[in-house]
Amino acid sequence: MNNSTKTHGVWTVTAPSHPTLFPIKGERKTDVAIIGGGYTGLSAALHLAEAGTDVTLLESKSIGYGGSGRNVGLVNAGLWLKPDEVVEKMGTEYGERLLDVLGASPALVFEMIDKYKIECDDSREGTLHCAHSPGGYKVLRQREEQWQRRGAPVELLSRDKASPLIGSKAFHGALLDKRAGQIQPLAYSYGLADAATKAGAQLFVNSPVTSFNRNGDTWQLKTPGGTLSAKWVIVATQGYPDRAFKNQKKSMIPFNYFQFSTPPLPESVRKTILPGGQPAWDTNLILSSYKLDRDGRLIVGSVGQARNGAYNLHKNWTLRSVEKVFPQIGPIELEHAWDGIIRMTTDNIPRFHMFDKGMITVTSYNGRGIGPGTMFGKLLAEYTRTESAECIPLPLTNQEDISSRILRGLYYEVGARLYHFAQRRF
Ligand SMILES: Cc1cc2nc3c(=O)[nH]c(=O)nc-3n(C[C@H](O)[C@H](O)[C@H](O)COP(=O)(O)OP(=O)(O)OC[C@H]3O[C@@H](n4cnc5c(N)ncnc54)[C@H](O)[C@@H]3O)c2cc1C
Repeated sequence: MNNSTKTHGVWTVTAPSHPTLFPIKGERKTDVAIIGGGYTGLSAALHLAEAGTDVTLLESKSIGYGGSGRNVGLVNAGLWLKPDEVVEKMGTEYGERLLDVLGASPALVFEMIDKYKIECDDSREGTLHCAHSPGGYKVLRQREEQWQRRGAPVELLSRDKASPLIGSKAFHGALLDKRAGQIQPLAYSYGLADAATKAGAQLFVNSPVTSFNRNGDTWQLKTPGGTLSAKWVIVATQGYPDRAFKNQKKSMIPFNYFQFSTPPLPESVRKTILPGGQPAWDTNLILSSYKLDRDGRLIVGSVGQARNGAYNLHKNWTLRSVEKVFPQIGPIELEHAWDGIIRMTTDNIPRFHMFDKGMITVTSYNGRGIGPGTMFGKLLAEYTRTESAECIPLPLTNQEDISSRILRGLYYEVGARLYHFAQRRF
């Protein structure tokens, strides 16, 4: 199964051809088994293979099938939470450690792109977090102060300074985070997969792990076509846990995020939109994102599904949003629509769990996974080699189910529909 425009939108059009990989067959052994072919699993596989470890990755469907092939492509430094909130929730030691690790994660992404010559339309000019209201501007001021206190290169731009960078007068200012940038998400997944394969990792697709059990010191992972035995297992199924790991869904609140892309814009219009190469998103609770791809398509995203009954509602909102934010574009069609599932925790902090001896997972990226996935994959690789708690920036906890998580997820979906419906004539 390969990714299609229905599930992965324009990213399938502009990504290089997908890596040629096959399902696992028969009985195999490895030192470290990785489950999931997104950024976390691929980064872990690549780092382990580079360190000379025998490593095998099993992906249920195709490389980048989950969030890693569908996302917006904002390479952010940090979480949705403000830095001080992370410290309030996690305490100084873990909180500051997590902020340091995530603050450094865009640099790791760009280092991987350079080292392995990954072609993924990256730009490293920062990101613009745009104030949708005077209240949003105040929150950005707090973010600026809290990050600057930690020495991060972020700068709050007034409306007058931000407008030419966004190419829009619709916002009250923007926070420029110079650590950040953007990528073509599916292309980055394919590039990591190629690099991991070249480094010696064995990657298998269409190989869902349907059950697992431990026999002494060895894990046995069953797939429809074969069995893999391993001393260590890294579960990197994150937002798309399936089959043997579907219980992970119980510990996260799901919501959908859609994106629509326009055809390539004419050069005269293109150069007026986000001319500095930064992608943008806003401070609204039902947030929106805006970016140009390498061919000058405008990609607009927000909360909700781009399928079924919600398709027309969100499409009309997107067209209206383009008209309001970038009136210079004029009447336009939308070419591709797709969406993906983001999974949240109640406190917006990711989780590391040790399921059992030798089986570890990181999950709940709360919508921030390009930097974190690449970084946490690297750290989990180190952990399987050293077993040092120093590698992990958070405590290892037990998985806890969230009650009424489906209802909570519906709250986002219905809230987004109501908001987009109310906004259709703003
Ligand atoms: C629409 C959307 C927009 C987003 N925008 C951004 C953004 O702009 N910036 C950002 O940083 N983050 C963003 N995110 C979040 C980011 O995409 C994810 O956090 C990140 O991709 C997670 O990577 P991962 O490797 O941990 O998991 P995933 O990419 O979800 O990969 C998990 C993989 O595990 C596989 N799997 C599941 N069960 C099994 C099994 N039993 N056996 C074998 N394989 C299995 C799945 O098929 C899947 O391919 C967004 C997410 C979405 C959905």
